[in-house]
Amino acid sequence: MKLARIQDLNLTGKKVFLRLDLNVPIKAGKIQDMTRIVEAVPTIKFILEQTQKLVITSHLGRPKGAPNPDYSLEPVGAALAEILGREVVLLSDFTNTSVSRMLDRLEPTQFLLLENLRFHPGEEKNDPAFAARLVEGIDIYINDAFGAAHRAHASVAACAERFSSENRAAGLLIQKEVEVLEEIMKSPKAPYSVVMGGAKVSDKIEVMLSLINRCNDLIVGGAMAYTFLKYKGIDVGASRVEADKMDLVAAIFKNAEQRRVNIHLPQDHVCAKSFDQNADAISVSSANIPEGLMGLDIGPKTQEHYAKILKGSNTIFWNGPMGVFEWPAFAKGSFSIAEAMAQSSAKTIVGGGDSVSAVNKAGLAAKMFHISTGGGASLEYLEGKTLPGLKLLQARA
Ligand code: AMP
Repeated sequence: MKLARIQDLNLTGKKVFLRLDLNVPIKAGKIQDMTRIVEAVPTIKFILEQTQKLVITSHLGRPKGAPNPDYSLEPVGAALAEILGREVVLLSDFTNTSVSRMLDRLEPTQFLLLENLRFHPGEEKNDPAFAARLVEGIDIYINDAFGAAHRAHASVAACAERFSSENRAAGLLIQKEVEVLEEIMKSPKAPYSVVMGGAKVSDKIEVMLSLINRCNDLIVGGAMAYTFLKYKGIDVGASRVEADKMDLVAAIFKNAEQRRVNIHLPQDHVCAKSFDQNADAISVSSANIPEGLMGLDIGPKTQEHYAKILKGSNTIFWNGPMGVFEWPAFAKGSFSIAEAMAQSSAKTIVGGGDSVSAVNKAGLAAKMFHISTGGGASLEYLEGKTLPGLKLLQARA
């Protein structure tokens, strides 16, 4: 996919609407992870070098179409103000106040941020009237919200539709994300390993089937591994299994066989008697798990085996933790993947979501080639779907 690029537009003195993904985790008003904010800065600075008339927009969490102070973008605005060295003007009531007029009144030391778009039901409904109000009087539309590109919401879809193709483009972050994903879809350097983990096979089946077309090794961990093991006739004790999804696992094995892709499953486990943060971690040194125990992480033998494959790879894509990494006793498996990726000379791509938290917790983010800011968006992209947000940013033929 060839995107229309912000670098090819003349922004001088223009009024610019910028959709970002500033959906960062916030606890008690404090930002827990700055990644998405930091990644948004190059595009903001690029625009501010050419025009002061910039309005920044984003969603945050799921406030379900109504104002809710827990989901305010205020802390994000303060963080941006510090990074940019400008004063933030946070506009809450942008349905009665014209955004365009606010831009005319802005001081050169200020920037405009709209309050959480999802405080308005029109955003998630992709309401054309809501979109029209947002961008009325605006000259240029820039989307750099990769993490929201798979959602046909007003600021991503209906707003973009209101601009002619010469006046809308992708920001620098979306360009970078798409370039990396495009490369691993079309011409990944072999050996190419995919590490898949997380909660459910059913969530990731499409992307696994698509990735099998390109990769050499598929490494499986997390709760989904127990559905794979069960399919293979291995005892999984009380581990989480999607018993009704065996046909999906069968499809993965069948495709992998046809494509000569090696599937790697856990050979040992870290288990517990219950799904509880304070449960004792019990090592199980075989693939079979005794009755009454549930697998909550991959064991040391498996960690070593997976690390060996990763160290010999030239391309690695990782999505989904190897265990319940939120609980320290069951986090080692996920950290071992992050460490093996950091030590490998491969092009390493972390596909958003919980794997990014695991890499950050392990303090290894700087060692990765690319960390995607959009979990859902990157998976849908790799499934081969056309993301609504990107469709409207395509370059003219
Ligand atoms: P996902 O969003 O599909 O990547 O799933 C991430 C979630 O899967 C995390 O919250 C993990 O705690 C959870 N998870 C990973 N491994 C296991 C496991 N063995 N049993 C239960 N939950 C798990």
